[in-house]
Amino acid sequence: MDRLFGTDGIRGITNQEMNVLFALKVGMAIGTYFGEGSRILMAKDARSGGEMLTRAVQSGLMSVGVKVFDAGYLPTPGLQYGVKTLGYDGGVMITASHNPPEYNGIKVIGSNGVEVDRESEVRIEQIYFEARFNSLPWNRVSQEVRREDRVAEVYTKGILQHVDLERVRQRNFKVVIDGANSVGSLTTPMVANALNCKTLGVNTNLDYNFPARVPEPTVETLKDTAEVVRSVKADLGVAHDGDADRAVFIDSEGRVQWGDRSGTLLSYWASRKSPSFPKRVFTAVSSSSLVEEYLSKVGINVNFTKVGSVIIAHTLLREGGVAGFEENGGFIFPAHQFVRDGAMSFALMLDMLATERISSAELFNTLPRYYTAKTKVPLTNDIDLDRVYNRLIEVYGGKGKVITVDGVKVVSRDFWFLVRKSGTEPILRIMVETKDQEKLNELTQEIVRLITQ
Ligand code: MG
Repeated sequence: MDRLFGTDGIRGITNQEMNVLFALKVGMAIGTYFGEGSRILMAKDARSGGEMLTRAVQSGLMSVGVKVFDAGYLPTPGLQYGVKTLGYDGGVMITASHNPPEYNGIKVIGSNGVEVDRESEVRIEQIYFEARFNSLPWNRVSQEVRREDRVAEVYTKGILQHVDLERVRQRNFKVVIDGANSVGSLTTPMVANALNCKTLGVNTNLDYNFPARVPEPTVETLKDTAEVVRSVKADLGVAHDGDADRAVFIDSEGRVQWGDRSGTLLSYWASRKSPSFPKRVFTAVSSSSLVEEYLSKVGINVNFTKVGSVIIAHTLLREGGVAGFEENGGFIFPAHQFVRDGAMSFALMLDMLATERISSAELFNTLPRYYTAKTKVPLTNDIDLDRVYNRLIEVYGGKGKVITVDGVKVVSRDFWFLVRKSGTEPILRIMVETKDQEKLNELTQEIVRLITQ
């Protein structure tokens, strides 16, 4: 059967595959799945077509008898927290997260605030493709869309509950917030404000052209923001993606810190904040070895999952733990909610800096240093993937721990690598990290040679 959902919702180019007719039918399918009379909360990020697609999905929902509530512009984690705490049956977010500006998308949230699992996605896909929409008589369609204006306040208050307010306020931190010209610009400054920060906003006007940088926060796209952090001598910089579930940090020396580094530090802090939770962390197999190296020393167990935030969220829900995260800056703090939350990550980081009385640059310097290489090999039909994986295990398996949850990962004392099939393109992705910079190229070339042989 055909699929609608990718690894994180339904995505497409606005007014091409992601057009109003499509969104209308997806709305009907989602509404049929939740059922007549259910209460669904909607929100959108600042992308082009956000309002147009919202209205199409809302019409679809109303036609099958769903009660629709509109929360306007919000980060995805804001909508998710609103669904969970204000007692809605589910939520729909119009966003394409970190994708390029021409994309938009539809995300479906369950009553617990978490993206629905694959099983529910399949049910929605079946309804859509078989056109089994709930068919109602004239007088049972929904008659209005109601506004829901409480969410931003409820959400930011929810975040602040987990922070030592007095301690952070006293520090009077100077922070730079890069809102990616989208919805993170609305709520993260509210959190900073409540924490008595001197805040400088960068890219905080909502603009669907994303004039300053693409919505994905990376070392390259955050060069200008890092320069701002350095020049105003800020204590910390934080940058979001298009829907602000990710937070990428810039330390007080203006260095962009990748998500497995901040995720490791935040995991340690999360375990201090939630002492009754199982001392366990879930992260994707693509995360650096520094995660385990650092966290095992403070008594936290690291479990590796397949790549994908929804997988991490559902594993955490099932098995419990203090945190879950991805190397792209998505961090889950279950004491707050079981989804990635950029503003929560930001508040936790400030809480840690205030309590540990340490600068952000010093804090990040406590992490082990690895050198990273990323490359890829095109995947053609004549390549036998199992043979490639087995050969890698044969050659490198003796040198360390082998993890096969998603491709092949080998973790040794001085290096680690991961070879896995991409979920979105016909390529094999290769990630290598070494402690010795000189060994990096040599090892990467050796692995590529082995695969192409
Ligand atoms: Mg996102």
